Amino acid sequence: MSENMNNQKGGISVEREHIFPIIKKWLYSEKEIFIREIVSNACDAVTKLRRLISLGKIKDIEDDFKIFVRVNKEEKTLTVSDNGIGMTLDEVKNYICQIALSGAFDFIKEYEGEDSSKNGIIGHFGLGFYSSFMVSDTVDVITKSYTDAPAVKWVCNEAGEYEIFENYDKTERGTDVVMHITDDEAEFLDEFKLRECLNKYCSFMPVEIYFVNECEEHKCEHDHNGEECDCKHDNTPINDTNPLWQKLPSEATDEEYKDFYKKVFTDFKEPLFHIHINADYPLNFKGILYFPKINHEYDSLEGQVKLYYNQVFVADNIKEVIPEFMLMLKGVLDCPELPLNVSRSYLQNSAYVAKMSAHIVKKVADKLNGMFNTEREKYEGLWNDIKMFIEYGCMRDRKFYDRVKGSLLLGLTDGKYVTLDEYLENAKEKNENTVYYATNMTVQAQYISLFNARKIDVAVLDKVIDTSFMSMLEEDRKIKFVRVDADIEALKGDGESFENEKLAAVFKEVSKNEKLTVKFETLADDSTPALLNISEESRRMEDMMKFYAANGMGGGMDFPVESTLILNTGSKLIKKLADDVDSDKAKIIAHQVYMLALLSQRQLKADELREFLSDSFKLLENNY
Ligand code: ADP
Repeated sequence: MSENMNNQKGGISVEREHIFPIIKKWLYSEKEIFIREIVSNACDAVTKLRRLISLGKIKDIEDDFKIFVRVNKEEKTLTVSDNGIGMTLDEVKNYICQIALSGAFDFIKEYEGEDSSKNGIIGHFGLGFYSSFMVSDTVDVITKSYTDAPAVKWVCNEAGEYEIFENYDKTERGTDVVMHITDDEAEFLDEFKLRECLNKYCSFMPVEIYFVNECEEHKCEHDHNGEECDCKHDNTPINDTNPLWQKLPSEATDEEYKDFYKKVFTDFKEPLFHIHINADYPLNFKGILYFPKINHEYDSLEGQVKLYYNQVFVADNIKEVIPEFMLMLKGVLDCPELPLNVSRSYLQNSAYVAKMSAHIVKKVADKLNGMFNTEREKYEGLWNDIKMFIEYGCMRDRKFYDRVKGSLLLGLTDGKYVTLDEYLENAKEKNENTVYYATNMTVQAQYISLFNARKIDVAVLDKVIDTSFMSMLEEDRKIKFVRVDADIEALKGDGESFENEKLAAVFKEVSKNEKLTVKFETLADDSTPALLNISEESRRMEDMMKFYAANGMGGGMDFPVESTLILNTGSKLIKKLADDVDSDKAKIIAHQVYMLALLSQRQLKADELREFLSDSFKLLENNY
């Protein structure tokens, strides 16, 4: 070591007594950020040198650039080394001692007091090199410029007092940043923790990064008693320097997209499909968004969109940048244009972010429309998996709805898929501007078969979100959605019907439901003696009350639904009952018919079911 010539001492000039204590406790919960800052500085140093080479300003340098992250638990040091551009004495003075710190000072001054986790700084960029002091009591920078200038060593303690050693003994080009980790932050000497951080922040940085645990290396030599050991040190970089999003979509294979997804999101389920975004100037950002496979309605719908800045990880799910409903997707976005050392409120009002967000929405809509137009069968196959996302998106973002309007499908009870326009076209004669739907194929089977017998399509809308989505379509398209058990018009036949007040009174009596209305109609299908008809509005209201109750908003009271019992005057049984209305047997049969009508409309409650079963058995017994 030759720390002898022209040693210079100094203190970081810009109000250091303010800055260092702040750095120390800055972003307490996210101290690991320093790794990203120091490693990305090393990447920048290589990138700068590469640029000089490509401009022809320097020759004779091989493109064998590497970054090493070395940890030494015994010495309590963490060292990041690069063979990039390096610094001369003047550069150390200018870039490390002054400018960087004054930059950091402005930064801190601006954001001091903001709660970083809520509305603070996105990505926490800007603190740069000095973030190393969040975890170190001393930091050494040993650097040799790519020029002929001699190497320099700079040592700075946590009070911001530094010492510079000129003509330091380092011959290879590049910079070592040696962080002397404090006892409080000893976790940053742990291999597992370090690998985790490197994985999070540095996985796609553009220069190869190697991790070395020096103590393990040492132990290994030791254990083998000086003999050559066969321990393999990691000689594969921890990062992928050329991530898939940087490729042209035409150059990447489906397999690559799937592998990338599995690796980045550690999700073993294959994604449904992806969208590769390559936005040119002036937007200038790239990314890949995936539609994940969601197993069922109550799976967590929270996706994960990772934001990068020139291949450096910034943060997950930045709501200001990605449209809210897209947060259900998984993916990566690399936005070199985004000023990241800004607050959330800046992003919320940024014209660039608004354009970027609109571009993403457009790309997703284009992809859906493209699949609908050219791969309809595949698109139909995916519909059940993506419909929730799309419906939610349509409700959250009018522009998205306008774009994908024509590609929205309705799944029918017979397993086919039609667009709303196709449905309405088919329905033109029998049920103009009305979409019939079922919410439960099993419970409403009886009604569905009546509609199908009349060749009226029934859509399946069985998700919680469907109710709100229907209301939106009703308003926008001036149409009506009617559940199969809510409308008798479509089921009416041509025959004459009769009225029988006495029979109506019997049914009212056996139903024990004071709110029940009894009506006589001739239905198209005379094998069904009676049907319950519940008005669409009243049922939606009931559903809403149930939803609120289930979500702890309001009591779970049993909301009485107004229902109408339709007696089918075309049915033999009803005719017989009308003729025999005064007998006791008529009452027993009427009760049974009512229970069956109830059963075909909804599941019976426990005591109803018990009563129904025992009555049925009695009926069989007496008629055998
Ligand atoms: P920023 O990277 O945002 O400019 P930093 O505080 O991280 O701010 O770094 C300040 C400056 O120090 C950099 O701009 C660069 O000139 C210099 N620097 C830091 N690390 C290195 C390195 N590993 N190699 C060469 N120069 C470096």
